Amino acid sequence: MTLPRLVYEKQKTPSFAEEVMERSGQNIMACYQCKKCAAGCPVGKEISMTPDRLIRMIIFGDREGALFNPLVWRCVSCYTCGTRCANGIQVGRITETLKQMARESKYEPLVPRVKEFHNAFCASAKHMGRVNEMEFMGLYEMKNILHEIKNHNLKGIVDELLEQAKTGIAMGRKKRMHFGVERVRDRSEIKRLFKISEEQDEQHLMGP
Ligand code: SF4
Ligand code: SF4
Repeated sequence: MTLPRLVYEKQKTPSFAEEVMERSGQNIMACYQCKKCAAGCPVGKEISMTPDRLIRMIIFGDREGALFNPLVWRCVSCYTCGTRCANGIQVGRITETLKQMARESKYEPLVPRVKEFHNAFCASAKHMGRVNEMEFMGLYEMKNILHEIKNHNLKGIVDELLEQAKTGIAMGRKKRMHFGVERVRDRSEIKRLFKISEEQDEQHLMGP
């Protein structure tokens, strides 16, 4: 597969790359394109997009290309790239940053389910202080099913329920599904941390 040629756009470069570096805490300018990260990324081959190339796009100021990048939405945050990188660049943190930036820019997520997964995960973590699988999966499934109902897609609803039942059974067999309700003691502290983070997001939305 031939990938499109990247074009260097000087005027766009500093602001976008600097924002990504500041928000992700990753020094992408240290990347020398050795591609060691690419060799270990579990999703790169499937989507024809690798961490080194995403970094190159950011340095070149390709904002649209980076925010709509399949790697951003398919990255499983395994951090393999970061452990292989001689410069310690964690692309998993960069993909999280870009997802957040896409959300702030009101872009439709490239993979809507990833957004719903993230929202359900955060809602459960905020509520209990830790993620409860039943609550988290319930919230996530409710969103997906509502989406299928809106589209009058009966088959989609049935497929969704079957797929999640299979996942639930597989997780149960591996003792990864907890039916009890566990909460951390000081949930107000977790809520406080979420509040700080939400306020920071709002500040980014308003700009300098
Ligand atoms: S391993 Fe590090 S330096 Fe090498 S291409 Fe990947 S991010 Fe860049
Ligand atoms: S953290 Fe994301 S980009 Fe890095 S190796 Fe894992 S899936 Fe690939």
